Amino acid sequence: MPERNPSVLPPGGPVPGPVRVRFAPSPTGTLHVGSARTALYNYLFARHLGGSYIIRIEDTDVARSSLEHEQSILADLAWLGLDWDEGPDIGGDHGPYRQSERSDAGIYRQAAERLLNENKAYYCFCSQERLDELKKEAQAHGDAPGYDRRCDAIEHAEAAARVAAGEPATIRFRVPRTDIVVKDIIHGPTEFSSAVIGDFIILRSDGGVSYNFAVVVDDIAMEITHVIRGEDHLTNAARQVLVFEAMGHEPPAWAHHSLIMGPDGGKLSKRHGATSVGDFRGMGYLSSAIINYLALLSWSPSGEQEKLAREEIVGEFELQRVAKSPAIFDIQKLNWLNGLHIRDMSAKALSEALKPFLDLAGGADVMPPAVSDGQLVVAEAAVQTSLVTLADAGSQIREFFTLSPLAESECLPELSEEGSAAVLEMALAGLDRLPEAEYIDGAAVPELLESARALLKEWKKACKSADIPPKRLFRTLRISLTGRTSGPELPFLLTGLGPATVRERLEAARPFTDQAL
Ligand code: GLU
Repeated sequence: MPERNPSVLPPGGPVPGPVRVRFAPSPTGTLHVGSARTALYNYLFARHLGGSYIIRIEDTDVARSSLEHEQSILADLAWLGLDWDEGPDIGGDHGPYRQSERSDAGIYRQAAERLLNENKAYYCFCSQERLDELKKEAQAHGDAPGYDRRCDAIEHAEAAARVAAGEPATIRFRVPRTDIVVKDIIHGPTEFSSAVIGDFIILRSDGGVSYNFAVVVDDIAMEITHVIRGEDHLTNAARQVLVFEAMGHEPPAWAHHSLIMGPDGGKLSKRHGATSVGDFRGMGYLSSAIINYLALLSWSPSGEQEKLAREEIVGEFELQRVAKSPAIFDIQKLNWLNGLHIRDMSAKALSEALKPFLDLAGGADVMPPAVSDGQLVVAEAAVQTSLVTLADAGSQIREFFTLSPLAESECLPELSEEGSAAVLEMALAGLDRLPEAEYIDGAAVPELLESARALLKEWKKACKSADIPPKRLFRTLRISLTGRTSGPELPFLLTGLGPATVRERLEAARPFTDQAL
């Protein structure tokens, strides 16, 4: 990780000092891949510049928020490896990190009262019926819906007295009639007209805070320098710029990235299939592949290489290279990257990662009962190159250990080709030198394979002197050991099946060879 370097600021960043970004999920569901991408861009940006990456839980929607959702979101972020520097679970100097706690501490009320005192906000006593009526009228005239500022005419002292007497009131932000520019790193400067923004509520009559207000109060308190989030929040940024200014603060630099779309162009949702990080984890995708894939959805590295490790992405990530065009979710590409990341794993790491999947597929039942841990690790390494997801492993490993009945096999005629009996006898005679895969440690796999390769080399040499083509050696062994003509490489098969099973199968193939017929 780069050292924290406060002097490094990306172009467009108006705020001097160390970079501080936040991912601000609402805990109303599981972590969607779209939100994971927002978290990732914040993480990459902060890590690239040695800044701080903060988690803030936006749980002001009490009815829809839950601690379970918060915990599952944090667990998914941790699984992805997007570790944070400050957050609700680890604390920090700018807490609390849950909006509900900030609300309880009176932080939003104080901020709203400050705006009231500075005449930048006012109490509103209008009933819901009146507001509904206003909305209807605006719709009928084709006007932008917005509050008509009736309560703005009430003297502050009078309004305060009515509130003190217990009359319910909201607090509205008085929208100044100025042009608004959101200086967005991805979209460029984006202008909005304040004329279409009505005076919005910042504090409800029950004391609940509105989203646009809470976010700004918190971003100021947490000294956020860059707001990186989905472009569905771009119009919110217009309101937030106004609140920043009213609070006497420069807005942060903004970066609104495109949303993830399904192949049909609609926003990625359940009807397209899996959408949450948990879904993908359960389907056997690696966090490194998900990170790689999500990063590439609208960012591109400077070189051609697409398979990238997290550190490589951190090293290169810049918001300036994030495209504004919509990101289409392409499961084929994720599959391709997942396969590549699986191939990169050590035998030991693969074995660990596969554990839940082999259990899910039926535990020990999936494998023949006599398979040792050592044999399993070899079989796992054997299928490694053909896995798209970890969930593919169960059936492939089972096949690895399975002998298709020779008598019914289509390869039976080939087993009787000239030289096959001699191959079997030679292999049977040399089998005592085949190592037993009894170890547990995956690190031993390469050495074991090496012994099997050496044995095969000797058999090949012996075949050559006996005028038996190498093809006969390899095909006879493969067909005898599996009953099939294709499959994992022979050194894997010999080691994974182990000397006892190899002997058993070679002996069982004797009656089908050239000499037996
Ligand atoms: N809580 C908002 C959401 O989940 C994020 C708001 C923000 O990043 O400003 O969409």
